[in-house]
Amino acid sequence: MIPGSFEYHTPSSISDAVALLQQYGEEAKILSGGHSLVPMMKLRIAEPEHIVDINGIAGLDYIKEEGGVLKIGALVRESDLEHSDLIASKFPIIADAAKLIADPLVRNRATVAGNLAHGDPANDHPAVMLALGAEVVLTGGSGERVVPISEFFVDLLETALKPDEILTEVRIPMPPANSGGAYFKIERRVGDFAIIAVAAQVTLDASGNCASAGIGLTNSGPTPIKVTAAEAYLAGKALDDATLSEAGNLAEAASDPTSDTRAPAEYKKAMVKQMTIRALRRAAERAKGGN
Ligand SMILES: Cc1cc2nc3c(=O)[nH]c(=O)nc-3n(C[C@H](O)[C@H](O)[C@H](O)COP(=O)(O)OP(=O)(O)OC[C@H]3O[C@@H](n4cnc5c(N)ncnc54)[C@H](O)[C@@H]3O)c2cc1C
Repeated sequence: MIPGSFEYHTPSSISDAVALLQQYGEEAKILSGGHSLVPMMKLRIAEPEHIVDINGIAGLDYIKEEGGVLKIGALVRESDLEHSDLIASKFPIIADAAKLIADPLVRNRATVAGNLAHGDPANDHPAVMLALGAEVVLTGGSGERVVPISEFFVDLLETALKPDEILTEVRIPMPPANSGGAYFKIERRVGDFAIIAVAAQVTLDASGNCASAGIGLTNSGPTPIKVTAAEAYLAGKALDDATLSEAGNLAEAASDPTSDTRAPAEYKKAMVKQMTIRALRRAAERAKGGN
């Protein structure tokens, strides 16, 4: 299929890009990696009249630690995450997810910001960011606002982004000592979207119990899901088999998947439980220094 016709804009600054979004409103779409937008345009699901390509804006491709926060710029690609020592050493949960997204060709272009901004519950980064307690910086005509990721996903393919806003940065608190995370994804074949997937991040206290936990679910409902009941349940507990199993039950209860060509809903729910247990177990191993 061939996309409809559109006007193509190449701003060289965020303010120029915002001005274009203000001018064209709902008729404009940001283009980052293009690996979700272009397929949707080819299927005519999206028919923007104006494409605002932000790839020419310098200085948006950073991954850095600043004031106890990891900052990921809007033009950081999946492949940048894969090759970052900072991500590998401090955020194995992000490295797990990035490696499982599509194939190297897609990962060379697709951005983390685009993955979140698209608002697709089947994308892998939303659940990871929910587990990590991330925030996103949205820059628009009224300036910058910082939105907790737990408030960012509104509905299927709908986020808190206003028509004149760009997701310019992802912020994640640096994990304290004795923290670890993991992402477990079930897919039909390598590089496919998840049947379901689970992100888990834990911090252990001095006696090895769970001080805090973050859990996010991929493709388990109309939006990415933060499993707050399991997070609260795990606080202060030893991560033994019975506790992990109960956390899995709570994640399964929070999930609301539909049956589709990938799998029936019952199977998906059962797998949410099992992948929650596995992700938590791996996260705890990593928190103790293992891999
Ligand atoms: C074959 C294939 C397999 C894939 N498999 C997976 C997978 O397994 N897991 C997975 O998570 N993803 C997968 N994807 C999706 C891929 O990761 C996308 O590229 C990603 O979801 C969107 O990022 P992007 O940079 O390409 O965004 P784009 O396609 O450029 O944009 C997507 C949407 O977000 C908006 N947008 C983009 N950037 C911004 C921004 N900075 N601020 C505001 N709005 C913005 C756009 O206007 C558009 O509406 C796959 C894609 C392909 C083609």
